[in-house]
Amino acid sequence: MPKPSAVALLLLFGVFCTPVIAANPPGTITLAVDATDAPRNLLHAKLTVPVSAGPMTLFYPKWNPGEHGPTGPIVNLSGLKITANGQPLAWRRDDVDMYAFRIEVPQGASTLEIALDYLGPVKEEGYSAAAFATQELAMLNWNLVLLYPEGKSPRELTYAASLRLPAGWQCATALEVASHTGDTVEFKPVTLNFLIDSPVLSGAHFRVVPLAAEITPPHRLDLAADSEAALGISPEVVAEYSQLVREAGVLYGARHYWHYDFLISLSDHVAHFGLEHHQSSDDRMRERAFVDGFFYASGSSLLPHEFTHSWNGKYRRPAGLASANFQEPMKDELLWVYEGLTQYLGVILSGRSGLWTPEQFRDHLAISTAELDVTAGRTWRPLIDTTIAASILYEAPHEWEASRRSVDYYDEGTLIWLDADTTIRELTKGQRSLNDFCRIFFDGHDTGPELKTYTFDDVVHTLNQVVAYDWRSFLNSRLNSITTHAPMAGIERGGWKLVYSETPSPVFLGVEAVQHLTDVRYSLGMVIREADPALGEPQAKLRDVIPDSPAWQAGIGPGMELLGVNGRPYSATVLHDAIQEAKSGSEPIRLLIQNGSFQNIYSVNYHGGERYPELERIPNVPNMLGEIIKPLAPRPK
Ligand SMILES: [Zn+2]
Repeated sequence: MPKPSAVALLLLFGVFCTPVIAANPPGTITLAVDATDAPRNLLHAKLTVPVSAGPMTLFYPKWNPGEHGPTGPIVNLSGLKITANGQPLAWRRDDVDMYAFRIEVPQGASTLEIALDYLGPVKEEGYSAAAFATQELAMLNWNLVLLYPEGKSPRELTYAASLRLPAGWQCATALEVASHTGDTVEFKPVTLNFLIDSPVLSGAHFRVVPLAAEITPPHRLDLAADSEAALGISPEVVAEYSQLVREAGVLYGARHYWHYDFLISLSDHVAHFGLEHHQSSDDRMRERAFVDGFFYASGSSLLPHEFTHSWNGKYRRPAGLASANFQEPMKDELLWVYEGLTQYLGVILSGRSGLWTPEQFRDHLAISTAELDVTAGRTWRPLIDTTIAASILYEAPHEWEASRRSVDYYDEGTLIWLDADTTIRELTKGQRSLNDFCRIFFDGHDTGPELKTYTFDDVVHTLNQVVAYDWRSFLNSRLNSITTHAPMAGIERGGWKLVYSETPSPVFLGVEAVQHLTDVRYSLGMVIREADPALGEPQAKLRDVIPDSPAWQAGIGPGMELLGVNGRPYSATVLHDAIQEAKSGSEPIRLLIQNGSFQNIYSVNYHGGERYPELERIPNVPNMLGEIIKPLAPRPK
């Protein structure tokens, strides 16, 4: 799609729910969503679907882009009523496919009326199907509240959607607004693909913050929060996100959207994650993410990651992930590019834009590398299997994570792409880098939100365009082999090495606090989930135990409750004291543990003191890591 002029863009697209004139083309399906019950997690929807007589199948979206699995929350679809010619129509679910509804359209009927409700879950863990609303805000993903007819591609189906908001709420979306009457917003018709790619953020406490105002197309932070206070983002943080917009422009060399909106829900009572779209991202953060430095430091790389997906994941997408419709299974094998490269580019953009200091960048890298290094699952499962099995691994529990190995293609993908970046820099004596790969791969000229698929061969070919090398073997060996250690060649070529010190970094402490963890996996071999009475978790629990660690050898397993340490009630402080005292003694650390309805003392024979990951300079090796995160875009005075 050609890029309209900048002026037309400002008038037409996604400008914070402002209207333009629209008319529905023939065959358009209308979708009216009533979100006035969103504060109690309930959505109502009505569809009108043009039809002709005969048998027909209606689908509820199952495989939603960006979630890499069959996550469509069909169990929450409720109140389904279908009528034709004013008469109720019987429907029957497919016996095997829970997402398919069969109907017989009667003679003379040209339109179906469909009513349905979406029963919003209250759990905060999960993706777009998890908690999406509070009393003060809601994030509407259209795939939750619609059906679509079999037969046509979602790229051919046209939907005219409207949304009724709770009184006085404001909204933002990538969709173009046709009219805004009272609390109801009507959007201009779009394809089903585009609709599902364009969620709507709404709320009572709302703020729009323009970023890098000199850049076209426009970029905005759209904030909806549980309180006015949470909207108080500082000019310094806005300046860092503006710099992110500039740095992304330099790194990728082109943009593939007409505008970009970070749709940010700020609440402690929605699910916390990011979901990428062509022209927006659904970013769900803690209520005080922007006003509390503590939360901000641990979550500030979310937006660079989701923003990068506009290029890698949306504009360029692995062929296996560009399925024909929302029912066809996706093939996740290239997620080490889709997510792994995005993770790498997101963290280096966090460094280049100033969202992270160089020290914070290194501390994050140390933590993720050390976690990978003690993930024993790497000794049976090659990285490529974590991508192929992604659709089941996202749902896997944290318990046994080190043994199972989970979606490691994010952080191990980062190490592989860092390895590639430093290899290119070394081979070309600093003349070329992964920046050059990005400019070729993401296609050097501006377009609208188009899709171009890629394969493994395309990745190898593009790397060879940057510098000739046996990239196929380079990648295959890292993706398909069983190893005992994380791939750290990129860190070491970059002038640093992973070491352990007795003092945790501020980033380590921040991650522990945000996740309610006490992480002693590098000493005792345990990750402890702290008690959280508000969530019905009155006792600290072992979230994971590292295979062959001292805790493992003592017989401790995930799920057990930690009651006491050396004869005293458990607290993180008592445990840390015990680790330090054991360093100079020979007595084991005695842990009182409840295993189901049994209590036992477990003796952990460990005397190595506290151990926390950090990166240390390798003398006489140039600081390539520092070079990689140096800003490339000028900062305005
Ligand atoms: Zn991602």
